[in-house]
Amino acid sequence: MRAIVLDKPGSFRVAQVPDPVPGPGQIVVRVDACGICGTDLHIMDGEFPPTPYPITPGHEFAGTVAAVAGDVRMDLPVGARVAVDPSLYCGYCRRCRSGRDNLCENWAAIGDTVDGAFAEYVAVPAANAHRLPDGFDGQLAAMIEPLACAVHGLRRLGPIFGDSVVLTGAGTMGLLLLQLLVHAGAGPVTVVDRVDGRLAVARKLGAAQTASGLGDLDGERFEVAVDATGVPSVVDGVAALLDRGGRLLIFGVTPAEATMSLSPFRVYNDEITVTGSMAILRSFAPAVELIGSGVIDPRPLLSEPLPLEEFGEALHRVRTGQGIKWHIRP
Ligand SMILES: [Zn+2]
Ligand SMILES: [Zn+2]
Repeated sequence: MRAIVLDKPGSFRVAQVPDPVPGPGQIVVRVDACGICGTDLHIMDGEFPPTPYPITPGHEFAGTVAAVAGDVRMDLPVGARVAVDPSLYCGYCRRCRSGRDNLCENWAAIGDTVDGAFAEYVAVPAANAHRLPDGFDGQLAAMIEPLACAVHGLRRLGPIFGDSVVLTGAGTMGLLLLQLLVHAGAGPVTVVDRVDGRLAVARKLGAAQTASGLGDLDGERFEVAVDATGVPSVVDGVAALLDRGGRLLIFGVTPAEATMSLSPFRVYNDEITVTGSMAILRSFAPAVELIGSGVIDPRPLLSEPLPLEEFGEALHRVRTGQGIKWHIRP
């Protein structure tokens, strides 16, 4: 089969590699679509420490069951449509055993630590597959994984009924978070991004107000702030807009060594809550329902998928901020 192979950080090729065969408990999925996300850029640049090289990346994917190991007991016949949760939690460590599997001490994930879905086929544990109705669009199904991350984020934040929200970053994650916030009963949501086209999509998806910079919001106060940029100065800036009793969700991935300047006095005196959200925790099935039912509609975010051979071009478009969400259709 054809697959993207990263031999080392910074260099990839479209390679001919052996077709995967299902190991014990595994199925092989013929990949319909696989999304490119920020983590893939970090893996490409050698900035994602858990990743070994060579690797085939790709963790936001869906497809069709092509082969099934003899010991698989689930109802996953060849030809079934599936989306795959890429999480590979060990089930053994203290975090897994306390229900916080996403903080697993032996964390691994398809496309991040083992070969993923920028390939025609990928072998995955059958237990990670979520069966979809026949005819489910592959590119929409590949949006279930990022939505599952957003669902976990909103669970971490807790109830937001009627709360005024400021959301920084109107990329894929910001716009999925926006839709969830609106459906979850948030008060007016203000979305901040530098790109006008993205703000237009945000307004279409329910943003009450948009701004091209935090400076435009001077003097305003919000009960909830959500950062989906991962830019430390933006996290700082949006935290400064919190009202007393406010809550901050740090969703975007900042550089590991970055710090923020939130005043401990404010956290004490104004009872500010700071919450993080890391990947997926039992949030994949709700994301299947939300996209399957059409309640969350990712289509305004999507560009026409590109073939494997244009992986480099797709990365370029992601890096230069063209479009919002790009997929590879191997
Ligand atoms: Zn991702
Ligand atoms: Zn674990």
